[in-house]
Amino acid sequence: MKFDLELLEFVECNKDSQKIAISASDKDLTWNEFKNEVEKLKIEILKYNLPKGHPVVIYGHKEAKFIVSMTACMSLGLPYIPVDTIYPKERLNKIINILSSALVIYTIENKMEVNTNNINTSYHLDDSIIYIIFTSGSTGEPKGVQITKNSILDFKTWLETDFKFNNNSIFMNQAPFSFDLSVYEVVGFLLFGGTIILNSRELLENHLEYFERLKKYECNTWVSTPSFISKYLLSSEFVSSNIKTLTSFLFCGEVLPSATVKRIKNNFPDSKVLNTYGPTEATVATTLIEITSEIIDKYSKSLPVGYVKKNTIINLLDKDSENVGEIEIVGDNVSIGYFKNEELNAQKFEPKYEKRSFRTGDFGYFEDNMLFFANRKDELIKLHGFRIELGEIDKEFTNNKEVTDAITIPLKRGSEVVKLITFIVVNSSAVNIEDLKEEISKVLPYYMIPSDVIILDKFPYNTNHKIDKKELINIYKTL
Ligand code: AMP
Repeated sequence: MKFDLELLEFVECNKDSQKIAISASDKDLTWNEFKNEVEKLKIEILKYNLPKGHPVVIYGHKEAKFIVSMTACMSLGLPYIPVDTIYPKERLNKIINILSSALVIYTIENKMEVNTNNINTSYHLDDSIIYIIFTSGSTGEPKGVQITKNSILDFKTWLETDFKFNNNSIFMNQAPFSFDLSVYEVVGFLLFGGTIILNSRELLENHLEYFERLKKYECNTWVSTPSFISKYLLSSEFVSSNIKTLTSFLFCGEVLPSATVKRIKNNFPDSKVLNTYGPTEATVATTLIEITSEIIDKYSKSLPVGYVKKNTIINLLDKDSENVGEIEIVGDNVSIGYFKNEELNAQKFEPKYEKRSFRTGDFGYFEDNMLFFANRKDELIKLHGFRIELGEIDKEFTNNKEVTDAITIPLKRGSEVVKLITFIVVNSSAVNIEDLKEEISKVLPYYMIPSDVIILDKFPYNTNHKIDKKELINIYKTL
C-alpha cells in the first residue's frame, strides 16, 4: 500500500498491508492501521466544513498522529503547517494568527481546537498547496514557504529515479517536521510504500536505545544534517557490524565536511553517502552527489554538493573573476512564494523562462558539472581584504585526529569582519591550542589563522540541528 498524491488516496500496490508503515514515539501502525486512522481523522475534520485550501496547523513532536494528520490534510486538499513542540506556544499562536487558521491539531494531547470565526474570515489559500513551512530564522525573519503539489510530485520523481527510494526504504527520521529536511522521509515512505521510524528528542539522548531501535526496525536509510550524525560516529556501537541494515546516509542543510564522510566510511565501510543541497524554498533539495572515496581525494578543498536535478536550472548571478556567483534556482521545485509577503516575493521569486525562480542568497561555483557551495551571501568573509572560505579553516582543524568538530565564526564590528574565532570539540584532554594553531599555520596563510580557538564540550544547535552560530558568538562574549 502507498499514498497516491495525484489521486489523493491510498492505493493497494501490493498485499503487504500488515507491514509497519510508521514506528512513532507512542505506537507502531501497519499500513492498514495507518490508512484506517487517516480515514477516521478525515471524517472528523470534514465535520468542520473547512473550505478547500484552508490552512491546518499541526502541533506536536514524533507521534504517529502527526503523520496521520499530515496525510489526512493532503487527502482533503487542506494545506498543513507543521510546528514542532521545540517551538514555544507563543510561536505557535503567532503562526495561527498570521494564517487565521480555524483548525489546530495537537498530536501529543490528541485533540483538535477549532475557531469557527476563522472559517469565514480567513484568507483561503490555493488548494494545490501541500504545506507551508515557517523557516526557523537561520536565514533571517521567519517566513511561511508555500509548497505546492506539483513541486512535491517533481520531488518524488527525483527520489525515485536518482535516489532509488522504493517500498523497501526504511527511513530514520529525526528532523522535526517543521524542518523541510523531514520531507525526504515523509514523501519517501508515504509515496513509495516504505516505512518511517520517528525518533523523539528524549530517545536520541540514549544512544544505545536509539541504535537498538534502528536495528529492530531494520533501518536502511539515514537522513540528517551533518552536525547531527557527528556525536554518534564516536560510538563503538555505531558501526556496520552492529547496525547491519544501515547502508545509506543522506545529508542536507549545511556543509558536509570530508572528515564526517571519512568517519562514516570507517564505521560503515560499504555504505553510500549522499550530499544534497537546497533551501526550503525549492522543496528540500536541488542537487545530489554520492560522495565516494575518489570524490574525497579529488576535491580536498571542499566537497561538491552535486549535480542539478532534472527539470531544474541553476544560474550563477553576478559572477566574480573566479566564477563564483549567487545561486538562483529555476524550476517546478521552487515555491510559489512566502505567505502574504508580496514585497519579498517580488525580490526573491522573479519568474524566469515561464518557470518559478528563487534567489538563494548562497554563493556557489561549478566544477566538472557539479555545484559547489561557497558560502552564504551574508557570510562572505573578507578580512583585511583577503577573501576567506571559513570551511577551509574548519577542515584543517578536523584533519587533526583529536579534533572531532570545528567551526569558524567571523566576529564583526558593524559590517566589517575584525577577527576569526574557531570553536572546536576534541576527544582528548591533551590537546594544546598553541600546537594546533602552529600545525594549521603550516598549511594556511597567516590571515586565515583564527585569533582565538575555543574548546567546547559540544556545539550549541538550533531547532533544525544546524550549528547555532549566534549562540556561539554569545558564548564567546561571556568568556
Ligand atoms: P533551510 O532552508 O533551513 O534548509 O536552509 C537552506 C540553507 O542551508 C541553504 O540556503 C544553504 O545556505 C544551506 N545548505 C543546505 N544544504 C547545504 C549543503 N549541502 N552544503 C552547504 N550548505 C547547505
